[in-house]
Amino acid sequence: MAGNRIGALKGAAKRWGVSLRVYLDRRARHLKPCTYCREWKHEDEYCSDESKWDGLAPACKPCHNKQRKHFYYKDVERSRARCREKDGRRREARIKAGRERRRRAKLTKEGGH
Ligand SMILES: [Zn+2]
Repeated sequence: MAGNRIGALKGAAKRWGVSLRVYLDRRARHLKPCTYCREWKHEDEYCSDESKWDGLAPACKPCHNKQRKHFYYKDVERSRARCREKDGRRREARIKAGRERRRRAKLTKEGGH
């Protein structure tokens, strides 16, 4: 499994014309190249796609939408909705985790004396 990931990383670095070191450095800073506009953008600019090895869609959100519009206009709203839905779910999970943390902190404070 790990070998596949390194292989994928090496392949990706080569594809983007950078060394594996540069590629990893950029990925460490959460940057990812868009397959469509070929710009390095922050991971936040991408939809999540669990079917991909890095869990992110290959094209950034604006390009993703553009692409969808180009190939199948009817699907744009759906893909955008899917994007939104996933972002919303992530945000919800984050809010829930924060709430849970605060609740626990309060409990330990109250039960601490
Ligand atoms: Zn793009």
